[in-house]
Amino acid sequence: MGNTIEGATGTWEYVIGLEVHAQIISNSKLFSGASTEFGSEPNSQVSPVDAGMPGMLPVINLTCIEQAVKTGLAINGTINLMSVFDRKNYFYPDLPQGYQISQFKQPVVTGGHIDIELEDGTKKRIGVERLHVEQDAGKSLHDQDPNASYVDLNRSGVGLMEIVSDPDMRSPEEAAAYVRKLRTIVRYAGTCDGNMQEGSMRVDANVSVRKAGEEFGTRCEIKNLNSVRFMQRAIEFEASRQIDVLESGGTIDQQTRLFDVAKNETRSMRSKEEAHDYRYFPDPDLLPLRIEQAWVDDIAAGMPELPDAKMARFMEEFGLSAYDADVLVAEHENAHFYERVAEGRDKKLAANWVISELFGQLNKAGKTVEDSPVSAEALGELIDLITDDTISGRIAKDVFAEMFETGKAAGVIVEEKGLKQVTDTGAIEAVIDEVMAREAEKLAEYRGGKDKLFGYFVGQVMKASGGKANPKAVNELLKTKLQG
Ligand code: ADP
Ligand code: MG
Repeated sequence: MGNTIEGATGTWEYVIGLEVHAQIISNSKLFSGASTEFGSEPNSQVSPVDAGMPGMLPVINLTCIEQAVKTGLAINGTINLMSVFDRKNYFYPDLPQGYQISQFKQPVVTGGHIDIELEDGTKKRIGVERLHVEQDAGKSLHDQDPNASYVDLNRSGVGLMEIVSDPDMRSPEEAAAYVRKLRTIVRYAGTCDGNMQEGSMRVDANVSVRKAGEEFGTRCEIKNLNSVRFMQRAIEFEASRQIDVLESGGTIDQQTRLFDVAKNETRSMRSKEEAHDYRYFPDPDLLPLRIEQAWVDDIAAGMPELPDAKMARFMEEFGLSAYDADVLVAEHENAHFYERVAEGRDKKLAANWVISELFGQLNKAGKTVEDSPVSAEALGELIDLITDDTISGRIAKDVFAEMFETGKAAGVIVEEKGLKQVTDTGAIEAVIDEVMAREAEKLAEYRGGKDKLFGYFVGQVMKASGGKANPKAVNELLKTKLQG
């Protein structure tokens, strides 16, 4: 993977724009009171509105609009005080109304941007064209019966935000960073759970290729990607396909394509010529949506701290590196956990423990901070034992491993195993004497000028003390004792 592709005729560049469908967190649907809960019995959450029964009237769910406004603010967009719901007309078995209610010419949010962090540590700003609100369709089930397809309308009418980017991304990695960042932002804002496996976030990727400096080429759109990894693969495949076509003298037909994960290729679904004419028109059942600036201001005032602001604060106030801050901020549960550990403690030490030790163990165990056997408070207590010299950092790692396994408190383990650090100089001197007596040869070499052996002695003394001797005291005492 890379930023450019070498073709037979030279170097090509990717041009990528993404349309992300994000399911709005709301107990009920966009225009009905039916539940949005995932995984329920098919067709158990369908109101007459969602089933497209004649004569039913949609009633807007204000929570969904509030969520869209929050998201718009979170991506630095302009909130439009008036927006319009349109009918997007098409036929599909999972769309009983015969149209989807969406926003076309006047969406609730226009403009905005998302900053992504690139691998080399630099930032890039990706423009957002618009965010509009629309209904989701139902789901056709083709795999339940060899001779029939079924329709589940539980998803029909669920509120979605469609977030359309500018064609600003230049590699599959940038596209991946954009989707991850958007996912982080909506999760912080509490407006979408970002669960791609459950379909709460789905991506349509628009891809074209060009030689550096040339105008944009014709694009193809790959529909319904529900994993970041698949999206990257689909974009790579699609760009190579287009380059092959162009280099063999062909032209790109603007198409909608589907990605076949098993075959690792995209194939045509429909071309522009057969593209739907959706006959958009304002939905006569819904008045234009008017919201007040004061309401928007209230929502803005109540916004939680977002990932960029949190990252900047971790770096500026806590002195964390960009890398550490980025790792901690990526999932808001992780950031929250870290903040509880760091409260009233050394921020960098806390970051090290959370990132290296806790995340390391969680990874191995396939767990997240939410089901961590070591709570933020318990980890904080362990760090306190290091800071007040009760135990060394080395011993603390063993204590942590045991905390993780047994759920016991740090203090209890230290007590039970007698792991308290030895700071008593008499006791340490006794260990040093013992080591010097048994290492007479090395001692002679050291005294003969082989300074490098100092570290060896430190190691031996630490080992002989079972790791419990205070390393600073060991260093100081050894210096004088080895001189003889
Ligand atoms: P339409 O009006 O046909 O939906 P838009 O201009 O809204 O087209 O663009 C849809 C998506 O396609 C946007 O995400 C946009 O960034 C992207 N896009 C537009 N032109 C190109 C291009 N030449 N190559 C790649 N992506 C593009
Ligand atoms: Mg568009």
